[in-house]
Amino acid sequence: MSTVHEFGRFFLPGPTDIRSEILAAQAGPPLPHRGAAFERLFASLQPGLQQVFGTARPVYVSTSSATGLMEAAVRCAKPGPVLSLVNGAFAERFADIARSCGRDVTVLEAPWGRTVPLEQVEQALRERAYSAVTVVHSETSTGALAPLAEFGTLCRAHGALSLVDSVTGVAGADMQTDAWQLDFVFTGSQKALALPPGLAFGVASERYLATAHEAPARGRYFDVLEFEQYIHKQQTPNTPAVSLLYAAAAQLAHIERETIAARVQRHLAMAARTHAWVVATRESLGVPLCMQAFDGERSPTVTCVALPLHIAGDAVVKGAAARGFVIGGGYGKLKATHFRIGHMGDHTVDGLEHCLSAVHETLAELAR
Ligand SMILES: *Cc1c(COP(=O)(O)O)cnc(C)c1O
Repeated sequence: MSTVHEFGRFFLPGPTDIRSEILAAQAGPPLPHRGAAFERLFASLQPGLQQVFGTARPVYVSTSSATGLMEAAVRCAKPGPVLSLVNGAFAERFADIARSCGRDVTVLEAPWGRTVPLEQVEQALRERAYSAVTVVHSETSTGALAPLAEFGTLCRAHGALSLVDSVTGVAGADMQTDAWQLDFVFTGSQKALALPPGLAFGVASERYLATAHEAPARGRYFDVLEFEQYIHKQQTPNTPAVSLLYAAAAQLAHIERETIAARVQRHLAMAARTHAWVVATRESLGVPLCMQAFDGERSPTVTCVALPLHIAGDAVVKGAAARGFVIGGGYGKLKATHFRIGHMGDHTVDGLEHCLSAVHETLAELAR
């Protein structure tokens, strides 16, 4: 296997492609995590993280994958039943985690590709007092984007905490944790942040923290109150993956230079290009492709495409691979019948074009 990494051929919806400069940044020196040099490194991450989350609160850094903070969000939420909005595989995982943490979970379902309408959420919140509501911002299994601007306010009005999986949202889609009054928002390093896997980032509102001590079994590694206590010292509760923090520092400095607004626009442009490509490919090849997510509810970071019955999802993935591009297969129950393109992280519309051409050639071959 070649040890030289060429950026621009890896379009999985996570983990995502990593620029060589960022890979190289991991080679910083070892550091004791209780000391001034570490605190400076850790503090340097905060302005960039606060921008991508749209928050003035400190952003926790967890040495875990994103699922770790998914669990933290539920475990440390005040006692009581949980309402889970389920419209895909990751939303299902969030509900499962809540159950496995001992919560009484009510599921509000939407078809895969849609999002749960706010009116239904409001109805459910009127019928019963919930401790928290779980939602996935960008559902990576279907490419659907949940509108969150009024979601947090609605939960607050009914005394519930809003817990948001924005793993393929943050740093690719607009996220306004504070303005949207969200109570716990988290992401992972290996999605739109385009970092190596192994870190998760999260924000808790003051409101969330005020009742977290009531949660009876918060455990230790994912205790939000521990993260909160240490972050004011610019430290993590336990030994962090310091090499990943070097990479994060380099990437967040890059994102600050790009600006988060420009980054979100670039993602919207890549999504628009992919959607137009699906329509154009359907017409030029006569292959009935369609996007799994509804118009107006599509994620800027990932597109999930439904195939006609005679073309298998893994055949498309293999054909793209033979042409030098990695794309995603369908996920969960959409595995055999769909493929996904992750247009997130540091990719550009021009770079994406090469990937779309490879998939187009593949589909032309498979449709024959
Ligand atoms: C990737 C992903 C996760 C899981 O992240 P891990 O880092 O693998 O734990 C959760 N939710 C969504 C929406 C994702 O895309």
